[in-house]
Amino acid sequence: MTTPSKIMKEYGYFPKKEFGQNFLVDPSTPEMIIRKSEIEKGSNIIEIGPGLGALTKAASRQGDFVFGIEKDKRLIPILEKELEKELCSNVKIINQDILKTDLETLLSTEKKNYLIGNLPYNISSQIIFQALEQSHKIEKCVFMLQKELAQRIAASKGTKDYGRISVVLRYHADLKIIASLKPSLFYPRPKVDSSVIVIEFKKENKIKVLDEKTFHNIVKLSFGQRRKTLRNSLGKGLKDKDLLEAIFKSLDLSLSARGEDLDLEDYIRLSDKFSENNIKLD
Ligand code: SAM
Repeated sequence: MTTPSKIMKEYGYFPKKEFGQNFLVDPSTPEMIIRKSEIEKGSNIIEIGPGLGALTKAASRQGDFVFGIEKDKRLIPILEKELEKELCSNVKIINQDILKTDLETLLSTEKKNYLIGNLPYNISSQIIFQALEQSHKIEKCVFMLQKELAQRIAASKGTKDYGRISVVLRYHADLKIIASLKPSLFYPRPKVDSSVIVIEFKKENKIKVLDEKTFHNIVKLSFGQRRKTLRNSLGKGLKDKDLLEAIFKSLDLSLSARGEDLDLEDYIRLSDKFSENNIKLD
């Protein structure tokens, strides 16, 4: 079996902490992930951080075409050789930072688009918000994350894990954790467990806000400073305190509450009240 340590030895490669590199050891793990995430055959797949190609090879067998966006330029020649050995001719590797990549240019207008990756842990949340901007063109995201972030995403109101990402993703997507992975499945070993989450963007929201920008702004401000009450956090965006008071009263919500005390429905009601009254947040 070709393992990351064997490949690294062969090419004289060593991982760097700044890239959040933990490579999958066993080829059965990526096969399981592709199978369980029900990615349709013949689709367009964009992989973030292909690394040494473990997930890329499995994706190449399922997809019509795979784009791999890899920031570490030392990996490009290694990756290209490893993919050639396995005859993965439908893969194009792009040496680029995902956060500076215009995802839209890689999305197909004819085929279903899937975004996948064993994400570098330090920028996982940013990548999720980046994907959200293209959510109407993406079928699913299949992301391997630190277990702690997956728990934050799936968290419910009132818990310490509950935050902006939990509210926003619940509005836009159906979420499913399809696997839990122990540190021993990676090289080098991470300190914590990982989870694989499938984010399936909703085609039609059952309850739709009047203005998504307002919704996003309210949620962002509400969780901006977790310890602060909504009177203080939302007061930063709406200076007219009496108006803020009146809105909360009309919805039977308390301004002494904190961001974590409101559920998705509360945020939707709040957002629509702002929109109906044409109130913009600074
Ligand atoms: N997919 C491989 C696997 O599962 O074995 C590697 C996963 S490793 C956790 C994360 C990968 O993302 C590394 O290959 C790393 O170099 C790459 N990476 C880190 N930051 C990146 C960025 N900003 N843009 C694109 N790739 C990045």
